[in-house]
Amino acid sequence: MSVRERYRFREYTVQHDQTKPTTGTARCLWEAEDGGPGCDWTSGLPMALDALTKALGKHCAETDHTEYGQTVRHSVTVVPGKWDGEA
Ligand SMILES: [Zn+2]
Repeated sequence: MSVRERYRFREYTVQHDQTKPTTGTARCLWEAEDGGPGCDWTSGLPMALDALTKALGKHCAETDHTEYGQTVRHSVTVVPGKWDGEA
C-alpha cells in the first residue's frame, strides 16, 4: 500500500480597506513614583483617530500625564492569489 499526497500553494495579499475608518483606543501609562496605583484612564470604545487625539489632549491637560499606549485598528481585506500552476 502506498500513499500519495499532493501539496498546492497560493499567496495571499493583505490590503488596507480604505472604505472603513481607522479607529483607536488609548490607555494612560502614568505610574506613581511611590509605587502606588497608576492612572487607570482609558479612552473607552474605539473611536476615530482625530477624536482620540482630542481625548488624549484633554486627559493630559487635566492631569499632566504624557505617556500613553495606543492601539490602532485598520480594516484589511485578504485577497487569495492563484494556486500554483494556474494560468
Ligand atoms: Zn492619566
